Amino acid sequence: MKTSCDICVIGNGAIGKACALALAQAGLEVVLVAPALPSEASGSAKALSDTNHWDHRVYALNHVARALLASLKVWDAMDAARIAPVDAMAVQGDAPDQSGVLNFDAYGARVGALAWIVEDSNLNHALDAALRFASGLKILHGAAKQLERSTDVAQITLDNGDLISSKLVLGADGAHSWVRTQADIGMDYRSYHQQAVVANFESEHPHHGVASQWFLGAEGIVALLPLPGHRVSLVWSAPDASANALLSESPDKLAQRLMDLSGQKLGQLHMLPPASPKSIPLRLIRSHALTADRVALLGDAAHVVHPLAGQGMNLGFADIQALLDAVVQRDQRSDCGDARTLVRYARTRKEEILLMHIATDGLQRLFASELPPVKLLRNAGMGLVNKLPFLKRRLMTHALGSSLSTHTDS
Ligand SMILES: Cc1cc2nc3c(=O)[nH]c(=O)nc-3n(C[C@H](O)[C@H](O)[C@H](O)COP(=O)(O)OP(=O)(O)OC[C@H]3O[C@@H](n4cnc5c(N)ncnc54)[C@H](O)[C@@H]3O)c2cc1C
Repeated sequence: MKTSCDICVIGNGAIGKACALALAQAGLEVVLVAPALPSEASGSAKALSDTNHWDHRVYALNHVARALLASLKVWDAMDAARIAPVDAMAVQGDAPDQSGVLNFDAYGARVGALAWIVEDSNLNHALDAALRFASGLKILHGAAKQLERSTDVAQITLDNGDLISSKLVLGADGAHSWVRTQADIGMDYRSYHQQAVVANFESEHPHHGVASQWFLGAEGIVALLPLPGHRVSLVWSAPDASANALLSESPDKLAQRLMDLSGQKLGQLHMLPPASPKSIPLRLIRSHALTADRVALLGDAAHVVHPLAGQGMNLGFADIQALLDAVVQRDQRSDCGDARTLVRYARTRKEEILLMHIATDGLQRLFASELPPVKLLRNAGMGLVNKLPFLKRRLMTHALGSSLSTHTDS
């Protein structure tokens, strides 16, 4: 079968789906290439109706992500009862006297919430539903196996023989991006030799919408994110050996560690089913370019950052918005894969992606060091930032992904 379109999106993660949807809603002819996997939609719908089941994968989505999803009518299609607003953040360093503390709150930032904790299945279920009704959008199942580009068109061949002819190919195919390789875009890759151990817990006491984070030096970084009700989601970024030890512990032992760490603020913690944590290897990927002839990269295909700031997916949503703007606002005499459109997209995204790489990589190095002067400095730095409202506000602006003064939504 041969299909022609304006834009072919390869990859059906949240970024690929949202991007395909945004472009189709803007009036472009879009093909979304998704691997020929059994549909997860029915499974996720079942999980979503079970209040005892909470995804191991959750994301703290910022204001930019929420605004984009709202404009696509996806935000309101999610199950609101399964989304928790983050009203405050409490970050704790590893000074023995607990002097390294940094607190942020929505009130100080003049926003309704700092972020929202959303489950992967809630987000994908709403995206899948929106994709089913989108006009101008076709989903093809198969693995892309060949990409050929000429000056004015790109041609993709799928393993089932389908041919797609497109003005622009978008690689939203994740960290091991096939599109990135086919387009000869190089990358820097570094393993952090860490794994994120993730699990969910029921707590005795309420979390009051507070996302807590502890920097534990050699033991890694622990985040407890609020889920609806008396529930929290754990993301413990730990060196490989420590992560393996955590994974082999009993759920009660891990719960006890978190109770001790949080000074019993949440009372008794019990791991929610499935009562076994999962782990995800952590790495840094920096793509050498965001575009090549007739190709652009988005999401993890373009950048993979340490999850300590919970910003990877948010960066991907900001990529979508920038690409959409570049395509929609292009000179109408040119097509949507025109070099000038791609240059505009790459220019718009370059700085934020670079800053996020530097900030997340720098922070993880700073807090992994066991050198006493570095420890002293990082804790003193946190205490200092906490006392400087202007600097705190600047930091929050970046984390929220937007200008604070323009947001008052809840
Ligand atoms: C522990 C942890 C916590 C995180 N927490 C947060 C957070 O709180 N907030 C946040 O913003 N980010 C967070 N992130 C980052 C976030 O998970 C990623 O940035 C995001 O999932 C990337 O989405 P994506 O769609 O770009 O890639 P993926 O989710 O990897 O999707 C890529 C898709 O492409 C498909 N694919 C691959 N190859 C092909 C092919 N050849 N043809 C067709 N399809 C293909 C794959 O099947 C997959 O579905 C976290 C990450 C980790 C590890």
